[in-house]
Amino acid sequence: MKISPSQSWRLKNTLYSLMLGICKKCGNVFYPYQGICGKCGSVDVEKVKAKGTGTLLEYTVLYQTRDGFEKQVPIVIGLIRLDEGVDIVAPLTDVEVNEIKEGVRVEAVLRRLRSDSVNGLIQYGIKFRVIDNAGYN
Ligand SMILES: [Zn+2]
Repeated sequence: MKISPSQSWRLKNTLYSLMLGICKKCGNVFYPYQGICGKCGSVDVEKVKAKGTGTLLEYTVLYQTRDGFEKQVPIVIGLIRLDEGVDIVAPLTDVEVNEIKEGVRVEAVLRRLRSDSVNGLIQYGIKFRVIDNAGYN
């Protein structure tokens, strides 16, 4: 996905931080933030920045990918339960494929995803890295 500088600016809260929505009516917590609760339809939604820590529930490894991401193969994609209780899908970083284990603690970090071209816009995004292997080795 090519992204323009203006799109990057408009999407900065989604691309560069984990902004959650918390419905004040029914208590539903969701990501990404939007101004309406997907569960009850209320617009009384609070925008809250997630702590950025969670637990890796499951993962898969991609050995083939679309153009622009070839240098990152293999890519580990995780299903992560944030400490706020929201499950999100995001890439993992700084991990060895044969060492990753479900149940480890992870934290969000900002990492370079790709660039459009040699002199193009460098796209950054959130990935997760393992912070605690205790009890899982
Ligand atoms: Zn709601």
